[in-house]
Amino acid sequence: MVILLFGPPGCGKGTQGAIISRQLGIPSISTGEILRAEMRAGTPLGIAAKKIMESGGLVGDDIVNGMIRNRLAQPDCRKGCLLDGYPRTLAQAEFLDGLLKELGYPPPLVLFLDVPDAVLIARLTARRQCPVCGAIYNLLSQPPRQDGVCDHDGAALIQRDDDKEETIRARLEAYARSTGPVIDYYAGRNFHRLDGNRRPEEIQGDVDRILKEAGVGEAA
Ligand code: AMP
Repeated sequence: MVILLFGPPGCGKGTQGAIISRQLGIPSISTGEILRAEMRAGTPLGIAAKKIMESGGLVGDDIVNGMIRNRLAQPDCRKGCLLDGYPRTLAQAEFLDGLLKELGYPPPLVLFLDVPDAVLIARLTARRQCPVCGAIYNLLSQPPRQDGVCDHDGAALIQRDDDKEETIRARLEAYARSTGPVIDYYAGRNFHRLDGNRRPEEIQGDVDRILKEAGVGEAA
């Protein structure tokens, strides 16, 4: 089963994605994380994506579609996977439909975490990341044990350029413009809207129920 986890930046996709991935024993694939890893490694793709990501725009469809095609071909995706942050445009959604058919997957289960913009801006400006291991913290809800320092490796935490307020507003606009139509595209299919402005445990309860109803509630 392929699960699509939708929601604007900062809606809690990362947290829920990690839980679902662990429960079902499937990988959680984030196109944003793949792109950031390419940036850290200084690959041509990472260098090309850096400017776009820092300005809050979307990386080209061909680039991310190619990344997803490669990733879904990996053996750990045989039982399915969870996609976080993809598809973000109609062209990506149409590409994914074709790819899933080609690879013999059933139609995806779609989860949409809905959160108001004002809440997202407050959450995202409080986000910090470890530049070494990629661990994510939130000064409001999930602070590191020691101020400004990663729990895992002691590195100084940073604020990602795309978590600064101006960029966040641009990202939310880009999200509404590009991904709004994608949400409409999946509505009426295996689509579930969840109120994401709640504690992670409450959201997780809803997710568990939906997965159970879909027959994928137990670890595979
Ligand atoms: P995220 O971590 O999902 O918020 O993604 C961070 C940034 O990576 C986005 O603001 C985009 O610039 C880029 N990105 C991630 N996923 C995609 C995608 N599916 N299509 C285009 N750009 C993406």
